[in-house]
Amino acid sequence: MSTTAAPPKKTNRIGLEVASYKGGRTTLCAGCGHNAISERIIECFYEMGIEPWSVAKFSGIGCSSKSPAYFLNMAHGFNSVHGRAPSVATGAILANRHLFGITVSGDGDTASIGIGQYIHMLRRNIRQVYIIENNGVYGLTKGQFSATADLGAKLKTGVINDLTPIDCCVEAIQLGATLVARSFSGDKRQLQAILKAAIAHHGLSIIDVISPCVTFNDHEGSTKSYAYMKEHDEPLQELDFVPAFADITVEIPEGEVREITLHDGSRLLLKKLGRDYDPTDRMNALRTLNEAETSGHVVTGILYLDPTRKHFIDHLNLVDVPLGTQPESKTRPPREALERIMEELR
Ligand code: SF4
Repeated sequence: MSTTAAPPKKTNRIGLEVASYKGGRTTLCAGCGHNAISERIIECFYEMGIEPWSVAKFSGIGCSSKSPAYFLNMAHGFNSVHGRAPSVATGAILANRHLFGITVSGDGDTASIGIGQYIHMLRRNIRQVYIIENNGVYGLTKGQFSATADLGAKLKTGVINDLTPIDCCVEAIQLGATLVARSFSGDKRQLQAILKAAIAHHGLSIIDVISPCVTFNDHEGSTKSYAYMKEHDEPLQELDFVPAFADITVEIPEGEVREITLHDGSRLLLKKLGRDYDPTDRMNALRTLNEAETSGHVVTGILYLDPTRKHFIDHLNLVDVPLGTQPESKTRPPREALERIMEELR
């Protein structure tokens, strides 16, 4: 009897199989855009060889906020109350600066109940990847308009949205996030490149992903449906990501290519697509978003990038050893130190 050895399982640069990056089985509706985003997250962390146990996942409430259960089972996780993930993430990352933070939120969770938290997270530029799974409706409570629904968008019931939307990318660029991107859950290649750049970025990355809700907002008249995105998606650039650790050659497509080196030495290659777009020009990014809103197009890609600005932990001048692992004798100042501070303030 002949025995054939099973082929060796494929592993990444730290010797882990892709199974080590998976999560529980999804309970979201089949075809929901959020499932595709979870798959991209699994692929990116696996391909970049990041230790899953060094990652901390955060979320609030909503269909999107259930997603962290479906990727990186070995990571730390905290499912917070509605809209409060930014402060929980900020606290955890301050307590352990070696944790890699990823927050998954939705348009309701971020732009309505969590807008105050979102704004202050932007100002601080805390290092983490913050994904907004944006479908324009509250899927968990039967599809009412959220604050990102476009003016004139129509619900299945025929109700028209007559309020102006909040654009989470505009807020992010204005208030201090240092990597801001928009993508579409159906664009696997672009979303992967953006996610990898965000993971390598040394600051706050906001990724607003149009992620259709197939149950409540995927009909004619919706501006967050698969059909609408296929018609109106206008990519700003073709993106390639070259990780710092890999000795690989990339085929740079013909045409003008701009290269940006990220903090960890990874490189982002931006190929011009029809327009001369510089993602380091803040005013141009805001103008582009404004023009897209007026014309009804959805511009996708890296909208804004500032690899030079300090993130919050650098501003605070924290020690390299995580605060969460320091003994109380070091983290709690003695009475004399407090008295000295009080004396200085008198
Ligand atoms: Fe996704 Fe909508 Fe279903 Fe929620 S209700 S899981 S957002 S398709």
